[in-house]
Amino acid sequence: MVEEKLSVVVEEYLQEIYLLQSRDAPVKAIHLATRMQSSPSTVHATLSRMQRDLLIQIDKKKNITLTEEGEEQAKDLVIRHHLAETFLCDTLGIPWYEVHKHAHHLEHAMTPLVVEKLAEFLNYPEACPHGVPIQGYNSSYLQNSIPLDQASPGMHIKIVMINEYLEDSEELLKYLHEKSVVPGSEHTITEILKATHSITLGSEQGQVTLPFDIAKNIRIEQVVSNNTQ
Ligand SMILES: [Zn+2]
Ligand SMILES: [Zn+2]
Repeated sequence: MVEEKLSVVVEEYLQEIYLLQSRDAPVKAIHLATRMQSSPSTVHATLSRMQRDLLIQIDKKKNITLTEEGEEQAKDLVIRHHLAETFLCDTLGIPWYEVHKHAHHLEHAMTPLVVEKLAEFLNYPEACPHGVPIQGYNSSYLQNSIPLDQASPGMHIKIVMINEYLEDSEELLKYLHEKSVVPGSEHTITEILKATHSITLGSEQGQVTLPFDIAKNIRIEQVVSNNTQ
């Protein structure tokens, strides 16, 4: 059987559905239309094609789920995406907040051999530059982490992951970078304000206030300091 290569558009959709699925809410065509900035009719046409090719299922409530085959393809794409990001950042020196969009172009051109060799070349990284675990290598990476919006005042924390979901806004990532909210950086939670749905964190580089909507897409670990009694 000759395996047909998936089109770039279908690959993008698979990745988006996979990402949306990970948020534990039903995935609908409207979410894709928003995320892909496409018209409902374009989205509908692509989804029909994907359903025909047994990559997705659409139930009576119009909820979209990946089939086993779709999920396998999506996982493979996500690995390619994260390896491409790591290569662009670590090897080529492109800033971490810019690599996402470039990786989106590269990932479609990588053959299985390239993926294998790249993983070896990068020494099987456990996470992409945003701290998103690269599947298959280390699933315990986020084991001790919680979303930033669930931290408590006074907590000393380390940023471990900035969710892929935020990566489409380079402006936001750049802002986080300027405020030193980058994977690996340490901060103290200064204030959590329910009234404004915001959380303020401080470090030697200064303070930054983030809305809960952004904070919930950032994962942190509590840092327990050894030199306090
Ligand atoms: Zn990315
Ligand atoms: Zn990433």
